[in-house]
Amino acid sequence: MKYVSTRSKIKPINSAEAILQGLASDGGLFVPESIPKVSLEEIDTLKTKTYEQRAIWLLEKFLTDYTEDELGECSELAYNWFDVQRRVPLMFLVQDPKRPETVVASMELWHGPTSAFKDVALQMLPHLMRMALKKVGETKEILILVATSGDTGKAALAGFADVPQTKVMVFYPDGGVSKIQRLQMVTQVGNNVNVTAVRGNFDDAQTGVKKIFGDKNLRNELEKVGVKLSSANSINWGRLVPQIVYYFSGYVEMVKDEKIKLGDKINICVPTGNFGNILAAYYAYKMGLPVNKLICASNINNVLTEFFNTGVYNREREFFKTITPSMDILISSNLERLLYHETGGDYKRVSQYMKDLNSKGKYKIDGKLKAKLDKIFYAEYVTEDETKLFIKRIYDVFKYTMDTHTAVAVTALSKYRSSTGDLTPVLTASTASPYKFTSAVLTALGQSVDGVDDLDQITKLFDLTGMRVPKNLASLATAKVLHEDICDKDEMPDRVIKFASAGKA
Ligand SMILES: *Cc1c(COP(=O)(O)O)cnc(C)c1O
Repeated sequence: MKYVSTRSKIKPINSAEAILQGLASDGGLFVPESIPKVSLEEIDTLKTKTYEQRAIWLLEKFLTDYTEDELGECSELAYNWFDVQRRVPLMFLVQDPKRPETVVASMELWHGPTSAFKDVALQMLPHLMRMALKKVGETKEILILVATSGDTGKAALAGFADVPQTKVMVFYPDGGVSKIQRLQMVTQVGNNVNVTAVRGNFDDAQTGVKKIFGDKNLRNELEKVGVKLSSANSINWGRLVPQIVYYFSGYVEMVKDEKIKLGDKINICVPTGNFGNILAAYYAYKMGLPVNKLICASNINNVLTEFFNTGVYNREREFFKTITPSMDILISSNLERLLYHETGGDYKRVSQYMKDLNSKGKYKIDGKLKAKLDKIFYAEYVTEDETKLFIKRIYDVFKYTMDTHTAVAVTALSKYRSSTGDLTPVLTASTASPYKFTSAVLTALGQSVDGVDDLDQITKLFDLTGMRVPKNLASLATAKVLHEDICDKDEMPDRVIKFASAGKA
């Protein structure tokens, strides 16, 4: 399997190279030349496999330049950190057992080391990268730079910690992340990790990191100490491919639990930000997973809802900060891959759309393409109040506590069902532990959080729901703070050099 760019005709490359490069040199994203097909019989064989084995089965189809042993090692190392045996378990919310149409399966993607769905991919990516380095004969170390507004930083730290031939450095805005998010990062162990606060806001940190990536002199200096910069952001193919696995896994779990029969179609509902998670569902569908509709759920930053409903993608709009921060996004980068595939690989058109988005702030797709997207996608957005109401309603009916992002998906799903009458059984992506968003969840459940410290909120939510607190969060109160560095934004390049050359003569 070879990879090409969404924006121009390039010489196809192997997956190892695509994973190391991250972004194509024309600014496009790497996409597989073709999408492998699987039969129902093959999907059926997954029933008896562990999650790790299902991952190997899927990865082998896309990462053909990796050996089965290598993929086995990646899968093992990525998922043995998940604190449940099934890795990505399903919780069935069933209103009436006699009516399959009342089934909603909540696919819990947050049992990894940082309690967010990004772990599923970020636990795997570092190992794919380290093996890719060997494959292309690269002897330099890779330094992963991350600017974070909270969650991605911790997930990257946890993924790259102590992975050979890699280093990871995270910048976060001083005072700009929650107490829990800060504690999660500054207590990170590992001899190749650095966490530094930046005096300023998230944009300052992000602009600083972007500048470093664009700074030729700095890159040269890093080369001299044997270090190459790279990023782990969600457009990397190595982050996308591990996400396809759980849609197959979720489907066979629904079959195993007799919620559906093999071959029955399901709807998949995903709380969407950068369009990575739902794009993975789209790949699963294209490969042959029986899917009726992909429901793209957004919060009030509803640029995708508008896009799917009107065919116009317009990022020129007000930006809202919400209780679902991981979905507060106006440019959903991974959408570019969908446009590429649905135009039959028309990179000229995709490239024009992206140019328009850059220069005019928007682009419009034609009616034919829109009709194609309509066949498989449905988009809906929900307000903050609706989200909170649903957290309460789901809790009251099922005694199931969901985080705000998952609640956006379930609320959008309910709107979809009442407006279309389509009652196909649903697999919903549950993307974070409610313990990561305690303040909003407690408020939704009618509790006051006035003057209650972040860590005490965890206890309060536990007392109320009895739901197990993830280990990584339970241990935060007593974990040792290891990273207290702070710098001005102009000092960021120096800090990078210092960290890159540490321990080297
Ligand atoms: C990142 C994230 C999302 C959005 O996923 P995308 O792949 O960016 O669409 C949703 N929920 C949570 C909790 C996340 O961390």
